[in-house]
Amino acid sequence: MKAAYYEGLHEIVVRDAPEPEPGPKDIFVRVRACGICGTDQHIYDGDFGGPFPLIGGHELAGDVVAVGSETLGDVRVGQRVAVSPNLSCGSCFYCRRGQVNHCLRWSAIGVTRDGGFADYVVAPEANVYPIDDLDYELAAFIEPLSCVVYGVKRLAIPVGANALLYGAGPIGLLMLQLLDRAGASSVTVVDLKRDKLELAAKLGAHEVVDAGDGADNALREISPLGFDVVVDCTGVPAVVEHMFSHVRNEGKLLFFGVNPTEARVSVSPYDVYRKDLEIYGSFALRYTFHDAFVLLQSGAVDVAPLLSDRFPIEAFPVAFERAASGDAFKVQIQPA
Ligand SMILES: [Zn+2]
Ligand SMILES: [Zn+2]
Repeated sequence: MKAAYYEGLHEIVVRDAPEPEPGPKDIFVRVRACGICGTDQHIYDGDFGGPFPLIGGHELAGDVVAVGSETLGDVRVGQRVAVSPNLSCGSCFYCRRGQVNHCLRWSAIGVTRDGGFADYVVAPEANVYPIDDLDYELAAFIEPLSCVVYGVKRLAIPVGANALLYGAGPIGLLMLQLLDRAGASSVTVVDLKRDKLELAAKLGAHEVVDAGDGADNALREISPLGFDVVVDCTGVPAVVEHMFSHVRNEGKLLFFGVNPTEARVSVSPYDVYRKDLEIYGSFALRYTFHDAFVLLQSGAVDVAPLLSDRFPIEAFPVAFERAASGDAFKVQIQPA
């Protein structure tokens, strides 16, 4: 088969690879669509995942080609499926408490073991979700959406809250739609890029604000006392720090974007105390894959406008560059 490898640090090679060997409890999947995500850039840079050589790709959908001899029959040959990449051990401290995204032996398909930037991938049966006849390229959004579902569940938005969202990339635009669905009375979106704000407005943002010099004034005009819910989907430390300037008393902040591991921000503990603030983190997903699937299947969340680029696997290096440029929305690899 053809596969795109992270061969080493900052080194991508598309080459022939042996087909993966499914174990007795595994499902053998032909990949039809696999999204490139910010995590792939982190793997490329060597600050996450590995070891190399590694086939990346953790946002994937395809067809079941074969099933292992000890599978339970919940997934069958010929079904369309999406693959949840996260693998947990089941027996560590966190797994025994159901906190599987914090598994002490956490690993993931396309991050620590071979993933979907290839013609075929294998995954344990429990990680393979039948998706009826949902389009492959829409189904490849189930994984990022399931992370957003997890974050929004943690946040537990008070119904009627007004929300402020920083960042209108693919994740921000999923977050926008879910905040709206989850009970926010309005969502205001801030971004640097005009085309992103335009798409945010089309997808339901009540107000869009250009992140330039006038942003603070514009936000105070929209809501003089600030916002009940403030969410960061940029992963930019300066933006995270700035969230505190626009949160209302008894407001909730969600740190969703992935910041650099060494980043530090300055926060006033007095303000957190005085304003009754609640601060949330959100890592990966936890049993939210099915919810994300049905949100896509029903049309409650629209991802079609977020898909900007499709490339065959042979063009992976070009696709990767395009995703890193910041000019694209979601870039997918779609093996022939
Ligand atoms: Zn991802
Ligand atoms: Zn575990």
